[in-house]
Amino acid sequence: MSKKITFPRGTSDILPQEALLWQKLEQESRTLLGLYGYKEIRTPFFEETDLFARSIGQTSDIVQKQILNLASQRLDDKGNIKLSGLSLRPEGTASVVRSYIQNGFDRQENLSKLFYIGPMFRGERPQKGRLRQFHQIGVEAIGPGAGSPYLDAEVIALSVNLLNSFGLNGFRLKINTLGSNEDKKNFSKYLREQLNPLINDLCGDCQSRFERNVFRILDCKSKECKTIVSKIDLTTGAYLSSESQEYFVKVKAALDDLGVDYIEDPKLVRGLDYYTHTVFEISDASLGSQDALGAGGRYNNLVTQLGGPKVDAVGFALGVERIMLAMPEIQQEEHPTIDVYLIAGDEKFLPRTFKILNTLRENKFSSSMGYKFASIKNQMKVANKIGARFVMILGEKEYNNKTASLKNMSTGEQREISENEYIKVMKEL
Ligand code: AMP
Repeated sequence: MSKKITFPRGTSDILPQEALLWQKLEQESRTLLGLYGYKEIRTPFFEETDLFARSIGQTSDIVQKQILNLASQRLDDKGNIKLSGLSLRPEGTASVVRSYIQNGFDRQENLSKLFYIGPMFRGERPQKGRLRQFHQIGVEAIGPGAGSPYLDAEVIALSVNLLNSFGLNGFRLKINTLGSNEDKKNFSKYLREQLNPLINDLCGDCQSRFERNVFRILDCKSKECKTIVSKIDLTTGAYLSSESQEYFVKVKAALDDLGVDYIEDPKLVRGLDYYTHTVFEISDASLGSQDALGAGGRYNNLVTQLGGPKVDAVGFALGVERIMLAMPEIQQEEHPTIDVYLIAGDEKFLPRTFKILNTLRENKFSSSMGYKFASIKNQMKVANKIGARFVMILGEKEYNNKTASLKNMSTGEQREISENEYIKVMKEL
């Protein structure tokens, strides 16, 4: 017997029963996102690898370790396998910005408010809450009008409201500011000065992060790095310019006005190079080690970095699978029942039954039938199982009389109706 094929590690099937919950979650998201003025954008699942290298940053963990490249099987002249230079998208922001630039959004609108819902792909080591294909709900507000602390606050509040709308409220929102580009440079210099004497005590990953992405040392999970980091004075914000400090004060004041609870965490940095100013992360302790529900922040340099106009931007992404893991109790959604199940009492009655089925659907009655002939008794069992409200039977007598017997499955009541009355009778029921 040949080996059974299962889904690839780190992916999963969303079965029909679960798909109902996905649809509900997506629907709720769309409604709320619409209320905030965000419009949906759908970009390709794969892009040129360069897009991710130039946006997320060569030095980030994602580009270093997690990008899944598409490899074409074509051989070049020398017989080498040629890489096609395309990668599955590991996140949504780079693609949205690419599309913003490519489609000249800046020439059409002062502020583009865009959202996406879809799969992302990363070459991770799978575990609970960490997949190779996972889904994100994300928003990006981009444009000349995006450089306002009210938009930072709005985007943060929107992510919290989305989670609330899914029934979640036990999560924690942490915020921080990285400041402008210049501030970031000062901050990394300050961190390197502080960490330099202790570099040999850092974990292996952080020793290589010291040069390529020193911020990431601040949120390293290893015990030795946490101890070292806890001794660095981060609260002063001395590396921040007064403009950046004022900006952050305004963001916090706007959040306070909206009644959003947050914790300021000077150790919060984001793994991606493109963030500036406000960064935030939402986590839920009930999720264990993979506790981040979502994260985001401001990225004022990214659009120019990708060759676009000088415009500001802010956004976030929430992880759908993690949201589902954190949901208090997943109420089983029920598939809607069907109106009518049709049963042909003989092989030769199938064509007429099939025609009635079609007419019912044309008249918006949800319906199905036993497509293969089976005994009426067996087919009644099927009708019961799928929860049909009515059953329409075409037996010998009905066939000859050009009628059908219509049975109400909850009362058991049965009546014979003529062919030209089906729809009229159904509409009255
Ligand atoms: P990130 O782009 O890494 O900040 O991710 C944003 C959110 O997506 C995270 O907070 C998670 O909820 C979710 N997420 C990221 N990576 C994964 C993964 N490998 N598996 C499942 N969810 C993920």
